[in-house]
Amino acid sequence: MEKLAIGIDLGGTNLKGIILNEKGEGRHLTRIPTEAQKGGAHVLKNIIHLIGELVSKEGSEKNIIGVGIGTPGFVDEDGTVSGAENLPGWKGTRIYDGIAEKFDFKVTAANDVTVATMAEAKYGAGRGVRNLVCYALGTGIGGGIVIDHHLYKGTHGMAGELGHIVVETNGIQCNCGLKGCVERYASATGIVNLALKLCSEAGNNNPTPFVVEVNKDPSKVTSKMVYDFVKQNDPVANQVNEIACDMLARAIGITLNTLSPDRVILGGGVMMAGQVIIDTVSKYVPRYCWPMIWEKCDLVIAELGEDSGVLGAGAMVFDEFGC
Ligand SMILES: [Zn+2]
Repeated sequence: MEKLAIGIDLGGTNLKGIILNEKGEGRHLTRIPTEAQKGGAHVLKNIIHLIGELVSKEGSEKNIIGVGIGTPGFVDEDGTVSGAENLPGWKGTRIYDGIAEKFDFKVTAANDVTVATMAEAKYGAGRGVRNLVCYALGTGIGGGIVIDHHLYKGTHGMAGELGHIVVETNGIQCNCGLKGCVERYASATGIVNLALKLCSEAGNNNPTPFVVEVNKDPSKVTSKMVYDFVKQNDPVANQVNEIACDMLARAIGITLNTLSPDRVILGGGVMMAGQVIIDTVSKYVPRYCWPMIWEKCDLVIAELGEDSGVLGAGAMVFDEFGC
């Protein structure tokens, strides 16, 4: 019997769902609007509707062993959502109960980035690797931890908040309440803010092509633009890259000394810049962790793109209910 899982990725705009087999082959990829503005109960109704649609496309629910959901925020052991401030009314929703009333499946859920880590572990840059850590460098920084091939969720589903490791005492204020979180420096937002600061300081004293371009229209700056100038070896853009990667290396050093994983995977939109980030971070990591641990660890770029959320949600079902 082919075992199947349903993976659901809950985003602010769209709900994505897929039917997945154990090899990671997906089918019936379906998108419907999340309609987050209508509140938590309505979002859960839409999730249940999407599950129903996937089951009817598959034609039967008999081989489906469970449904996995990746969501913003955290999910406690009983399926209660916490955090998720950008989805009004979603916090406090009991996901498992609502779905169990309608279907005979087992249900599991976790933070969306944590779930995407499972996709990389099973089907992407972490295939076959026993212990790994994933940093997703997007608007913020999310993370996930896999230990002995299994997703580590933490007691209340809050493990893997790697973006809020403090890398500078009394550093830049983070919207989580702490100061100096790594996501203030090495996320797309952090990189843009560093660029604005350095270019404004450079001003007319050091008008490199990057400084001129940034100061012409600061609202147009993106992390991609920064790395386009890094490719041209612009000294001020290089400086932004060095600071961002140094800060990221501090957080990675802490995770390495804590977990001694086989591999660290860097993903998210910022990693479109590619190898230059791997190379720069690799230069700084030895300052922040034991050399023996670093020597035994690879630092690599994530392989899966925007579908890592649904794939990981399905993978989590096999991870928890699989064999
Ligand atoms: Zn923070």
